[in-house]
Amino acid sequence: MTQAGLSVELRGLSRRYGAVAALAPSDLTINPGEFVTLLGPSGSGKSTLLHLLAGYVDPSSGRVLIGGKDVTTVPARRRNIGMVFQNYALFPHMSVGQNVGYGLRVRGWAKARIVARVEEMLDVVRLSGLAGRRVDTLSGGQQQRVALARALAIEPDLILMDEPLGALDRQLRRDVQLELRRLHEAQRRTTLYVTHDQEEALILSDRVAVMRSGRIEQIGTARQLYDRPASAFVAGFIGESNLLAGRITSARDGHAEIELAGVGGALRAPAANGLSDGDEARLMLRPEHLRLNGTGRLEARVTERVYLGELTALRLALNSGEQLWLRQMAGQAPHPGDTVRVDWSVDAQWIVPCT
Ligand code: ADP
Repeated sequence: MTQAGLSVELRGLSRRYGAVAALAPSDLTINPGEFVTLLGPSGSGKSTLLHLLAGYVDPSSGRVLIGGKDVTTVPARRRNIGMVFQNYALFPHMSVGQNVGYGLRVRGWAKARIVARVEEMLDVVRLSGLAGRRVDTLSGGQQQRVALARALAIEPDLILMDEPLGALDRQLRRDVQLELRRLHEAQRRTTLYVTHDQEEALILSDRVAVMRSGRIEQIGTARQLYDRPASAFVAGFIGESNLLAGRITSARDGHAEIELAGVGGALRAPAANGLSDGDEARLMLRPEHLRLNGTGRLEARVTERVYLGELTALRLALNSGEQLWLRQMAGQAPHPGDTVRVDWSVDAQWIVPCT
């Protein structure tokens, strides 16, 4: 039960619906035992990619390899994949045990072996002793764990999850997220997970693929996406960011010089790929990299002050009209109308294309 899952490879995989490129030709490699999340706004192609992997839809071009084997034309039921959906897709008239054992019966397992495996799986998802219960007597969180046990029972090469926690309330979602993380660490099954909740993606995943308009915009660890986003879109989608407008005056060797429009000055900083002289770009500054002091580079006016407990969030307006968000210890925070000077650590500067 502790063997890792298989690798997954998409090569130039795409899907069109008439004029709509639901997924533009995309490459993606998921390592054996890795947990990768597709994160992106609604309509960005997450479900399409997942359904192509599952074999529910045929690609317009490209290949799918699981464990190095080309499965592009293998029908869904012959791919050894465990699926978990938002609406659980459990059989309401069956017991918990029958639901969990469903895939094993389809595969022709002997009864005694099914019973043993069902018990083992219920233990894994902490529902021991509930095999005889009807699923419609369980809570939402319990039902989702039954769905998970059913997906794991077949020892899948790959687990696909499509917004599985979307129907749960916030507190329960947090509990199940931690449970999923624990299960994944114990089982190390290759997993592809879909969500539009960035916090969930960061909690669960080894790597996150940020999707936008049918393309994978960037894939990386939470840290890579947060510290070194490839674009203003990713910077805005992962965590909070301040993006100051400017134009590139020179770019090479991973660095760029940016002329900041509203700030009236140029600075040199590490930069994302794909920038050329003359391009419009953004200087990214995370709220935690900003500080207020008497000698700061920029003058600003406090326009909003939001109480967050230990910290206070402040919105500042620069003379250019651009805005910055930062956080301050509650006791030291200035008030709306106050004039302040803002500074930031040079190490934190990062320049991104404004696309
Ligand atoms: P997401 O899961 O990120 O919300 P989808 O993969 O569902 O995005 O959709 C991507 C795009 O493809 C959307 O523009 C959607 O309208 C379109 N699309 C998805 N499935 C179909 C379909 N069966 N028929 C027509 N268009 C579709």
